[in-house]
Amino acid sequence: MATCTINNAVCEFEGEQSILAVAEAHGIEIPYYCWHPGLSVTASCRMCLAEIAAPNPRNDGKLETIPKLLPTCQTPAAEGQVITTHSAKARANQNSVMEMLLLNHPIDCPVCDQAGECRLQDYAYHYGRTGKRFEEEKITQHKKGIGPHVLLYSDRCIMCTRCVRFTSEITGTGELMIDGRGATESIDVFPGQALDNPLSGCVVDLCPVGSMIDKDFLFSQRVWFLKSTPSIDGLTSSGDNILLEHNDGEIYRIKPRENAAINRWWITDELRYGWHFINDESRCLMPTIRNTPVFDDRDADIAWEAAEAAAVDGLREAGHIAVLVSPMLSCEDAWHLGTLAQAIDPNVVLAVGPIPYDGQDLTMKDGFVVRSEKAPNARGVRRVLESLGCDVLEADAFSQTLGGDASIRGLILTGNYPSEWVTPEFAAAVGNERFTVLIDTLCNTLTGSCNVLLPGATWMEKAGTFENATGCLQSFKQAVRPKRWCKSEAQIGMDLLAVLQGEPAGTYCDATTRRSMAEAGLSAMSSDVQHPSEDDAQAESDMHLIVL
Ligand code: SF4
Repeated sequence: MATCTINNAVCEFEGEQSILAVAEAHGIEIPYYCWHPGLSVTASCRMCLAEIAAPNPRNDGKLETIPKLLPTCQTPAAEGQVITTHSAKARANQNSVMEMLLLNHPIDCPVCDQAGECRLQDYAYHYGRTGKRFEEEKITQHKKGIGPHVLLYSDRCIMCTRCVRFTSEITGTGELMIDGRGATESIDVFPGQALDNPLSGCVVDLCPVGSMIDKDFLFSQRVWFLKSTPSIDGLTSSGDNILLEHNDGEIYRIKPRENAAINRWWITDELRYGWHFINDESRCLMPTIRNTPVFDDRDADIAWEAAEAAAVDGLREAGHIAVLVSPMLSCEDAWHLGTLAQAIDPNVVLAVGPIPYDGQDLTMKDGFVVRSEKAPNARGVRRVLESLGCDVLEADAFSQTLGGDASIRGLILTGNYPSEWVTPEFAAAVGNERFTVLIDTLCNTLTGSCNVLLPGATWMEKAGTFENATGCLQSFKQAVRPKRWCKSEAQIGMDLLAVLQGEPAGTYCDATTRRSMAEAGLSAMSSDVQHPSEDDAQAESDMHLIVL
């Protein structure tokens, strides 16, 4: 394996890689703005310039220092190179670049959303000059909305062109351009166009300063208060890796988490902005019996006890039941609900809930696929239910079975969709004659007519496992506590089973459930599940909001 030395550290590398990529792989910091592993190399910001010495084959391989500083993002690493980014010459360059970038910058950090995660701030501290020599008037640039999700603050732009390259190389939509030249050049959308593509929010992640700003996150929280929890796309079948960023039990934004095999560095706007249903005013928050809240407003346990007893009594009395497990639920939810169903009725009819689709899969220029299947775990739910030894129906066949089989006297239905999912046809097939327990998150046609409503938890409020469109099983963690009295479907399944068997209920744990599934024959749940890496482990903020 070839080796080079970067800032006194010996680094091994294979194949053709830039010096900057080798440094990144070895955790050595070289400052840069314009480079990004997912984009082409422009070497335009000049921040990563280094002093490089290399063996000269025409001088017996003697180490010779190249007179000019070279961009490490564009210079291939080679055997025997000695690279320094903190020599006097390299430092002088970093100082000059920082001074140039800050000449016209408004330095409005106190009101900038990027403050706290801004490379300009960080590098000004580590690589900048303390003094200011520029006394002329600063050039001011425009601020404007350039698309449904993104605001452009041109004053703050350092012309790294990452955003422009993203729309030309990744999405292929090319909405962004460089307008003008020299000191007054700026980023803009082409006339008459908006930055409106399925991945448009990614330019906010790419922008190393606070120039591309997310309208949805604007002024909503200082980033140093946010905690990050690794999670998985809970809205579509992509399995995209994400970070749920939250504070004080409230989600504030979703950011992509790098996974080279699945989503690389990108996520769709649909996922990035699709989490707000967690706070929808139609959220089911309390158990109800026959549309009446089980009121003891002071005590969730008493309310849940009454609702669970009513649910179990009704289902037990029904005898033959059918269970619809939503593809929005995790494998663990499906396991506990399936186990409960079989304990009530060994001949239970099991089905996977309706899988929403929107058009066709859309493949972007770089190969990123926007999935048309708008459910995260249809395959996982089917896999788990089949492992219980039952035939598993699809949603249409389930409706038909309900219409034609009067012996089914009890139902457990689950939803957890981010929008209305009950069609008039499905509501008619369910009818009013059967004892129906609905576990759902948002109010719909059935929440008023079911016998018992149990409020479920969204994927952000629980831990579990999803299987994506390509069959990849990935676990996700709980970011925030369930709203008010909501519970995960897995916990509800465990609680109802405990009531049925007259035993005390346990507390749901995703890892324990996966172990139980593996012991019962679903070996993939122990061997094939990919977990967030140590680096992605839940990050606690070191700052806490003090409420005055
Ligand atoms: S807007 Fe941001 S990403 Fe785009 S060129 Fe300016 S600094 Fe770079």
